[in-house]
Amino acid sequence: MKKHNFNAGPCILPRIAIENTAKAVLDFNGIGMSILEISHRSKDFQAVIDEAVALFKEVLAIPEGYQVLFLGGGASLQFCMLPYNFLNKKAAYLETGVWAKKALKEAKLFGEVVTVASSGDKNYTYIPKGWTVPEDADYMHVTTNNTIYGTEIREDFDCNVPLIADMSSDILSRPVDISKYAMIYGGAQKNAGPAGVTFVIVKEDMLGKVEKAIPTMLDYRTHIKEGSMFNTPPCVNIYTLKETLKWVKEMGGVKKMEELDLAKAKLLYDAIDNSKMFVGTAEKDSRSIMNICFVMKEQYKDKEDAFMEFAKSRGMVGIKGHRSVGGFRASTYNALPIESVQALVDCMNDFEKENA
Ligand SMILES: *Cc1c(COP(=O)(O)O)cnc(C)c1O
Repeated sequence: MKKHNFNAGPCILPRIAIENTAKAVLDFNGIGMSILEISHRSKDFQAVIDEAVALFKEVLAIPEGYQVLFLGGGASLQFCMLPYNFLNKKAAYLETGVWAKKALKEAKLFGEVVTVASSGDKNYTYIPKGWTVPEDADYMHVTTNNTIYGTEIREDFDCNVPLIADMSSDILSRPVDISKYAMIYGGAQKNAGPAGVTFVIVKEDMLGKVEKAIPTMLDYRTHIKEGSMFNTPPCVNIYTLKETLKWVKEMGGVKKMEELDLAKAKLLYDAIDNSKMFVGTAEKDSRSIMNICFVMKEQYKDKEDAFMEFAKSRGMVGIKGHRSVGGFRASTYNALPIESVQALVDCMNDFEKENA
């Protein structure tokens, strides 16, 4: 049976990126060895990482003055690495969910942290508005897409202090005005590639301003100087990331991705809004186009398990909501075809006909 992969991360990747990785694992560039078996210092691998950096810069239109790094440790290591490099006295954070809170927790190890606003009062179902950032903050941190709650900030706002964004789950889903940010980072395993590699876009003039000593491995300058190869990088993961970026470019770039992602999200949100049984959990003006969260209305709550079974029998994978929200979550990342969203919508409609 055909599977419709709505996993939240790791998640669906472009088929071509997987096929090309499979080939490189068997015989890389026709050299008679696997990409798993060669030195990261070889010219064959150097070409891979160079192309990955160039493609990332190209598809996201990253201006001069920024560096692109591919590191290990996930977005979670960046939660600690970024305050290590940028927090002297005070930082500002917008608390929009579990990931934002985890980022904030690490920053507290390095100085004063101001929570400019939180949507914790309503289980993170909305993006707070109308907050102000203290003028003396070293930086302001936001999580642009809240993967667990299905809320998203889809605009590049002006900020009075350097702006840093965790874009783990919505990078490459729209054109971003990189110049508005001091740093953007994320785990690749949603829109950008497989698990095991972390992307960092950092503005050069942010570096070298903190007073404290930074351990070598946690200093962005180390990785910039060594071209992301201070230590052995996750080679095959970077290869798959490069192939994913190639696919994004060939499909028509991030503008095209946005068009497709918006169409998929509209299809599913319309079905939810027109349904007798289902209801969305995020407030409408805060809705994510990457992670679509919904539950059954109160009077149908006891049918959630039955729907899960029904959906499974139709090939739906990964639609169980995160335990802190419950219900369902469909992640509609770049590589998910609209046909899969249509299949889910059909599934919801058919179940409703039988059960509502
Ligand atoms: C998945 C995710 C993370 C965690 O990434 P790791 O690479 O597992 O550390 C952080 N932030 C957001 C927004 C995420 O979606």
